[in-house]
Parts: sequence; C-alpha cells; structure tokens
Amino acid sequence: MPAVKPVVKLLQHTGNPEQTVAVAAKLCYSDATIEELAQGLTEESTAKFIKRLASMGHASPVEHASFTFGIEGVSRAFLAQITRHRIASFSVKSQRYVSATEKFNYIVPPAIAELGDDAVKEFEEQMETMRCWYADWQERLGGKGEKSNEDARFVLPNASETKMVLTMNARELLHFFNLRCCYRAQWEIREVAWQMLKLVSEVAPNLFANAGPNCLGGVCPEGPKCCGNQALVKQMKSEMNK
Ligand SMILES: Cc1cc2nc3c(=O)[nH]c(=O)nc-3n(C[C@H](O)[C@H](O)[C@H](O)COP(=O)(O)OP(=O)(O)OC[C@H]3O[C@@H](n4cnc5c(N)ncnc54)[C@H](O)[C@@H]3O)c2cc1C
Repeated sequence: MPAVKPVVKLLQHTGNPEQTVAVAAKLCYSDATIEELAQGLTEESTAKFIKRLASMGHASPVEHASFTFGIEGVSRAFLAQITRHRIASFSVKSQRYVSATEKFNYIVPPAIAELGDDAVKEFEEQMETMRCWYADWQERLGGKGEKSNEDARFVLPNASETKMVLTMNARELLHFFNLRCCYRAQWEIREVAWQMLKLVSEVAPNLFANAGPNCLGGVCPEGPKCCGNQALVKQMKSEMNK
C-alpha cells in the first residue's frame, strides 16, 4: 500500500476566538455587563487587548478558544507522542475495528527516503512482510473481526498509518507549540505542529502571534542540546506572520 504524508486540517474553532478570549479577560477587571463588554470590542481593540494579555501572563481566558483538527497520514509513533499532551481530546482510528489486511498504509521516514530508491524498496518489503504476518495471525485467530484484529495488530510496526480528530484549547496549543515546533522534537510531530500553527494563525493571528518554539522568545532552553536552527525557526515564523 502507498506510503503517506501528514495532512492537517482545521475542522472547527470557537467563533470569534480572539473576541471570546478578550471578553473573558476584560470581565475580570470591569463591572460592565458581558454584553456591554462584547459590544465595546472592535477588531482593533480586541487585537490590542490580546497582545496585552499575553504580556501580562494572564493565561486562563485563553482557554475559552478551542480548535479542532483533522490529522491524517501520521504514524502510530506520532500517536504515542501527541497523546502525551493531556489537556486535549482525541478520537483515533481503531486497530480493533479496522482491519489492516486489505489496506495497510504506512509512513516512510524522510531520512530513509533520502537514502534512495533501494532503501525505500527494502523498507516497503519489510512493511509487506509485517502485513503478511498480521493477515496470518488474523486468520489463525478466527478471521477478520474485532477479536482477531485486537491481537493480530501486535505484529504491526510504529510506521502504521493512523488518523485522528484532535481538539485543544489555545492555552494548551501555545504550550504544545513551545515543545513541538522545536527542532529537538521528532520530525513528524514537529511537521504537524507547524501545520497546526499555520492554520490557527490564520484565524487568530494575535492569539498566536508569539507562538512557536521557546527559542523565539530569545534563549534556547535546551542548553548544550540546542539544535542551532534558531535563525531558520525565526524565518519560518516571520513568513507565517506576514
Ligand atoms: C523533545 C522532547 C523529548 C521527549 N522525550 C521523552 C522521553 O524520552 N520519554 C518520555 O516519557 N517523554 C518524553 N517527552 C514527552 C514529555 O515528557 C511530555 O510528556 C510531553 O511533552 C507532554 O508535555 P507536558 O506534560 O508538559 O504537557 P501536557 O500534558 O500537554 O500538559 C500541559 C501542562 O499542564 C500541566 N499538567 C498536565 N498534567 C499535569 C499533572 N498530572 N500534574 C501537574 N501538572 C500537569 C503541566 O504544567 C503541563 O506542562 C518528550 C517531549 C519532547 C518535546
């Protein structure tokens, strides 16, 4: 089956995410009604207030804006990493309900692809071997079905393709981007994180104006393990903000 690449879509988000956050934050400091606060917010004043909020470190109002993504063409290795983020909601393709015998997609790591066609061919043959092991166990465990899939999947690799719907609020997204847009993060989750950052920046540019790896704030927190890609990261981010 063909190898696949990550595809990220923004499926839904809180309506007027920046205004929602601004109203939530403003009411902390005002005795005006919520309606009055919302009516008093122009696009310009919302942008100004969101920027001020970020500099104040008042983070909880940012939780009122949520973003839902569809993520496809990613590996089970990616799944293990992204699900470490606990302030998030996930729905993931099941390996119990969906058989891998007929349609077994997998991810080829770019570093293997760069080794050339022979390396990719070898990798693909290994994937096919595992698919055959899977089909064999599925058959021996009673044929296609939830119960046999459940155990046959133990011979499938981390490269197996998966897909998911993921929801995070903006506060968790900011934290996620700090960690996962960083070049110390594994390539696949980093690629997805940058795609997610681009999508949310289009709908809430002020909320995510400073979002990205920690080094954008000045100093890399990785110390001696610093990737040395700070200039590249800054350039990627400034192109996104244009
Ligand atoms: C470069 C890199 C390398 C990594 N290597 C490894 C590794 O070798 N092994 C490994 O196991 N993991 C590894 N991880 C995963 C890492 O340890 C975290 O599990 C993951 O990044 C999720 O981050 P988090 O816990 O900060 O955030 P989230 O789960 O997204 O939570 C957000 C924040 O909420 C707060 N929070 C959430 N839950 C709790 C809680 N129960 N108690 C207190 N505060 C909480 C914390 O402030 C946390 O930062 C790695 C991550 C990165 C980015």
